[in-house]
Amino acid sequence: MLRYLAQVTSATIKSATARPQRSQSSRWWATQKDRWRRVKVLNFKRLTNALRLRSEFKMATGQRHQNATAPPMHRAWPMSLSVEPTTSCNLRCPECPSGLRSFTRPTGMLDPKRLSSLLEGPNGLGRDLVYLNLYFQGEPYLHPGMDDLVQVGKRAGLYVSTSTNAHHIDETRAEKLVKSGIDRLIISIDGANQEAYSSYRVGGKLEKVLSGTQAVMQAKSKLGVPTPHVVWQFLVVGTNEHQLDTMKSMAATFGVDEFVVKTAQLDAPRDGHPLLTKDAKLRRYDRSPEGRWTLRNPMLDQCWRMWQSAVVTWDGKVVPCCFDKDADHAMGTANNASEFRKIWRSDRYGAFRTSVFTGRSQIDICRNCTEGTQVWA
Ligand code: SF4
Repeated sequence: MLRYLAQVTSATIKSATARPQRSQSSRWWATQKDRWRRVKVLNFKRLTNALRLRSEFKMATGQRHQNATAPPMHRAWPMSLSVEPTTSCNLRCPECPSGLRSFTRPTGMLDPKRLSSLLEGPNGLGRDLVYLNLYFQGEPYLHPGMDDLVQVGKRAGLYVSTSTNAHHIDETRAEKLVKSGIDRLIISIDGANQEAYSSYRVGGKLEKVLSGTQAVMQAKSKLGVPTPHVVWQFLVVGTNEHQLDTMKSMAATFGVDEFVVKTAQLDAPRDGHPLLTKDAKLRRYDRSPEGRWTLRNPMLDQCWRMWQSAVVTWDGKVVPCCFDKDADHAMGTANNASEFRKIWRSDRYGAFRTSVFTGRSQIDICRNCTEGTQVWA
């Protein structure tokens, strides 16, 4: 820990270490309260929809066993939605199409009016939704109106979260972020020193992540509010796995509400891949005796994630899940809730669901997907 401090010595670190370490029990309580905030947004309508989703899912998986060609029925609406604020990103992470600038779809910024037309009003999706994730590809806080987007979700009565690299959060921005009412802020921090951090977060500065975190924690305490629930997410890869214990201590030092370790999705895992961890518990892939690296989870012909949620890109394309990063399986374009509802119940969406429920391994995006397995180490 001391060696780490020496490497990234700064005013940020000094002031963070001046505070007492956050205890495990205090973080446990913060996590329970965060869970409660998610449950609290359930009203009768949303609860009924969620139960219907679950029972239709069970029926669809049952149908699959009886008749492989039966299309999964779907009358309920999604209970969670991801909406992409922007495809732009300031970093160059090696496994991310946004970072690699490899998208074929255009780069742009979500219009807050589009989000409002999707969520608000008597027919708005906010009626049935519970969870709004303002994140898909890109860095959300590059959107100048990110706090306005959050407020649209809050006006619709939803639990709102996002995920950020925290490079654009200074003191002024942090206060606005906290005041926006966002419930959950996931901060990606993948290394305890600059070398390990930037081995994956190419072009990133650990110092900025730390000062951004501290700015948010200070703004929360200044405003006397418990939200956002700040989560440090450590994407564990071959170049940072040795820092896991140091990261845990840092999380306590900085007083974040939760620390989670996520295994990495790799496009082409192979022998000698620098991002494959040595520790088998910290990766998603296993090596066969023939030398092939494959996902550890069984490829079941079902998908709860796609069944209960959807993703909307900044320009309104509706895609079945966050694994469809380039929107290759776009089901249509939704400018408002009515258009979204038509797309959700369209033959095209139904055909996609059927193909997942009858031959998931035949679908390109599904082959490297962890649905049905544990991605948290
Ligand atoms: S990639 Fe396929 S299995 Fe994975 S979440 Fe998307 S639809 Fe479901």
